Amino acid sequence: MKHRIVVLGAGYAGAITAGRLAKRLHRDDVEITVVNADPDFVERVRLHQVAAGQELPVCPLRKLFAGTGVQVRIARVRAVDAERKTVAIADENGAATLEYDTLVYALGSTVADFGVPGVAEYAHHVASKPAALRLRERLRELAAGETVLIVGGGLTSIEAATEIAEARPDLRVVMAARGGVGDWLHEKAQAHLRAAFERFGITVHEGADVVRVTEDGVVTRSGAEIPARITVWTAGFAVHEIAAASTLTVSDAGRIVVDATLRSVSHPDVYAVGDAAHAAGVGGKTLRMGCATASPMAWLGGDAIAARLTGRPVPDAPIGYNSQCISLGRHDAIVQKVTKEDEPTAKVDLGRKGARIKELICKGAAWSVRNPTLMLPSRRRRVIAAPAAVTAA
Ligand SMILES: Cc1cc2nc3c(=O)[nH]c(=O)nc-3n(C[C@H](O)[C@H](O)[C@H](O)COP(=O)(O)OP(=O)(O)OC[C@H]3O[C@@H](n4cnc5c(N)ncnc54)[C@H](O)[C@@H]3O)c2cc1C
Repeated sequence: MKHRIVVLGAGYAGAITAGRLAKRLHRDDVEITVVNADPDFVERVRLHQVAAGQELPVCPLRKLFAGTGVQVRIARVRAVDAERKTVAIADENGAATLEYDTLVYALGSTVADFGVPGVAEYAHHVASKPAALRLRERLRELAAGETVLIVGGGLTSIEAATEIAEARPDLRVVMAARGGVGDWLHEKAQAHLRAAFERFGITVHEGADVVRVTEDGVVTRSGAEIPARITVWTAGFAVHEIAAASTLTVSDAGRIVVDATLRSVSHPDVYAVGDAAHAAGVGGKTLRMGCATASPMAWLGGDAIAARLTGRPVPDAPIGYNSQCISLGRHDAIVQKVTKEDEPTAKVDLGRKGARIKELICKGAAWSVRNPTLMLPSRRRRVIAAPAAVTAA
């Protein structure tokens, strides 16, 4: 019987892991199935562009995996039973159950509302394709002079605010952040960011802790009201509740706790990669959610699974950072070099050069989904260990 590998989620992490496993393992020995709700690969790092009205190329998952041996199942994952080693899914034909020998959990993340009242009812977000498309429609309905308020001061907030301001210079774009906006960046990058906000006419409210979203804007902890026709909530990401509802060990945030090989600390036949995984990087710091870590996690996780199945040395080198890239519309960006531990350095690329690098990185991330072994030799090796021995090792 073939070793059944089920990969949940085909974002950057899941798609790369599945593709890499297909290149590393012999087709006679394994059956690899990817389950994803969306029939297309979604370049999540470009969803603010989608919201701002840009059309992105569509990449159907079935086309992406054609000829690789990976089976694609378009379905929604409902639950994982880590004891029975099954996954409950639902598609247009109804409910079904998949059995696995090895599970890769890569369901990514979605918007985090932090329990703030009104977010679900009144705010838009850009954390998923349907949400970005809904925001796009609402933005099209806005008349000149109306206000779009972006809540949050992190990377996604900055990218969303500048992208919308560039696409719709006739709108008033306002930001509200609990702390500073981009205040962790090197001072050169911060100065560039402030100049970009001025150029785009973006008003920034720092120290504005939003405690309620209403139909007409937001209310801050100090009682101040910031009016807006559209509020876009970009205050953070949270994982889906599926892992926390299982017997898998998860962090306080619901991410699956994994070891240095991205294997669940509670269930050795389960691996987690991407935003859904709680993993330590270089220096022991928990890796933050990001495309920058999702791809290297997929390389490491895929290789660790393949190594265990084929009786080869298991890689476990911690993942480090390189840079943080923030687009400021289509012609400007900040590329902040960071240490392996994600600390900003004085090396910063800005302006058009930064935009070229950022675009290259986004294209590179999508390219690595289509080329999961990064052109390294990809000899398909035979599975030598019995599944039970492998999972218990
Ligand atoms: C607008 C925006 C800009 C960003 N910019 C950057 C950036 O510049 N740099 C950076 O490092 N990171 C950035 N990120 C974060 C980055 O996109 C994520 O960290 C990355 O996508 C995580 O990859 P992943 O594969 O873990 O999850 P995802 O890309 O979220 O993929 C998860 C997959 O699982 C599927 N799925 C989810 N739930 C289910 C279910 N129940 N059933 C079936 N399928 C399901 C989804 O459809 C999706 O295909 C940005 C995010 C956004 C939204």
